[in-house]
Amino acid sequence: MSVRVLPDFLVNQIAAGEVVENPASVVKELVENALDAGADQIVVDVVDGGRTSITVVDNGRGMVRDDLAKSIMRHATSKLPDDDLTNITYMGFRGEALPSIASVSNMTIDTYNDSEPNGWQLNATTGEIKPSNWDSGTRIRVQNLFGNVPARLKFLRGDRAETMSVLEIIKRLALARRDVGFVLNNKWFFPKGQDLLERMIAVMGDDINGRMLEINAKSESGDMTLTGFVSEPTLRRASSVDQFLFVNSRPVKDKVVVGALRAAYMDVMHAREFPLCALFLNLNPANVDVNVSPAKTEVHFLEPSHVRAFIIKNLRNRLAETLQTVVQNNLSNDVSHDLEFVSRPQQMNIPVATPHHDNFNLANRDTNTVRHVLSVRSPNVKNFFDEQKLNDENVVCEKNIVSPDDAFAQRPLGHAIGQIGDKYILAESGDNLIIVDQHAAHERITYERVRTHTIKVQPLLTPIVVNMRAEDVVAVLEIADELKNSGLTLDSFGDTAIAIFEKPADWDLNWATLLHEIADEVRANGHSVQLNERLHLKLANWACHHSVRAGQKLDITQMNALLRDIENTTRGGQCNHGRPVYKIIPLTDLDIIFERS
Ligand code: ADP
Ligand code: MG
Repeated sequence: MSVRVLPDFLVNQIAAGEVVENPASVVKELVENALDAGADQIVVDVVDGGRTSITVVDNGRGMVRDDLAKSIMRHATSKLPDDDLTNITYMGFRGEALPSIASVSNMTIDTYNDSEPNGWQLNATTGEIKPSNWDSGTRIRVQNLFGNVPARLKFLRGDRAETMSVLEIIKRLALARRDVGFVLNNKWFFPKGQDLLERMIAVMGDDINGRMLEINAKSESGDMTLTGFVSEPTLRRASSVDQFLFVNSRPVKDKVVVGALRAAYMDVMHAREFPLCALFLNLNPANVDVNVSPAKTEVHFLEPSHVRAFIIKNLRNRLAETLQTVVQNNLSNDVSHDLEFVSRPQQMNIPVATPHHDNFNLANRDTNTVRHVLSVRSPNVKNFFDEQKLNDENVVCEKNIVSPDDAFAQRPLGHAIGQIGDKYILAESGDNLIIVDQHAAHERITYERVRTHTIKVQPLLTPIVVNMRAEDVVAVLEIADELKNSGLTLDSFGDTAIAIFEKPADWDLNWATLLHEIADEVRANGHSVQLNERLHLKLANWACHHSVRAGQKLDITQMNALLRDIENTTRGGQCNHGRPVYKIIPLTDLDIIFERS
């Protein structure tokens, strides 16, 4: 068989295989074109999940006749005026979408540009252009999608599922571009000019209201910023549906960013649960290559580990700081007694539930509640601390604390009143009723202790050598620092082997298998959760076995001891499976229930 250059229609259909996967990808390309054309109102309609027709109308600048003719030619684009692929500022640039879509559907374009007296209509199947009375922006109508590619049609899902995929695409773009209004099927509205929180509520649902943490970070060198919102750990989804990530305003599902998000929540969320977020990473366009996948959802960072570390660090800090800021702000308005109280703990050399600690979950609290808790004072505070100091940290439930109620009133979680169902502890603090899930609480405490104190490292007299392919060695080394933090010290041993020099003590695994899994994961996702996930699981199980069980009777002293321990535990607000450990119910809420207010 002789070599031949493929005819255009075939080349386009092959390209369509990459660019046009389903109705949602058509919508994505058309809406991106509308955005590139400067539109600020975009209306999308899909009929039968997009199978029968997809229409996108925009109020952008439109096209003159000549450009309209060229728009459906392969690699014809108006968006690379200076031939510079390293500085891409438009959503599109490949000049592939329109010819690809046209090759697998019947497409018509109506468009108007104000430099010409009238608009034009193009029939992409015949190539015919005629004058049209269209007089603003552009309308692209795609009918009978994949009508000529039955194999593709077979892979489409039900109408509803396809419509949902279209909605998801629009949500992503709507979060990226709040300056633009979007409407889908006259049913989903994202009005122009919403602020980020309003848009997020429109996109993710009402339940996020008041439960998202703002992120506003800049890298030390000032070359990168991360802004947006992430959910507090008690707010989560069973899949990544509500994770919206943007790199230089472009919606992405990039593995480096997704991996970093996951790593940041590792300690506070179960591996099968997903935080919500709308996160915007901005960096110098020269440090990121967006020309990676035809659908452009993946990007290449020049320095992926730098990006990853930056995201993880800032998200972790934010999660840990949830309480701190609010309390400290309130505290600074308070009088000297409290300030002294705060400055003491170090001298007394005990962990104290002062506002220094990020121990309890304020996520659902309003600042008034906190202020109130803090403003209850007690002359017995110091006595209490001295008592506390005598207690053996490790035997949580055996503590025997003389507990003046008013001393405990100073504490965020107050003093225990009793137990219900042998499962929940009721406590009172200032004007709040507090309900604690005793099992979740103890699990969190034990886990945190294990986590922070007992990852002991055991040096190996003879290193364990694992043979691997060169690319796997490179992959494992990419996260060597992270592995070291989890107790695994290793380095390359020639080009095709890894030597392990230290491992977590008392922990034996098939290291070869683990390293290969890590390598696979790093190569697929740019990061690995294998080691941490296993460590995490091991610790979680251990903590669970050593915890106060639901169903265990506790006396008041034991309950108070547990309350104090929660206060002293980092992220004490959630158990290590991400469930809440306690709820604070202000008396004012009870008043509402009993119709007193
Ligand atoms: P790309 O977006 O990569 O340039 P496309 O095939 O998506 O390639 O579009 C080709 C060209 O058609 C664009 O560069 C643009 O000039 C023009 N175009 C497409 N859609 C629109 C629109 N909605 N409004 C104005 N011009 C458009
Ligand atoms: Mg395009």
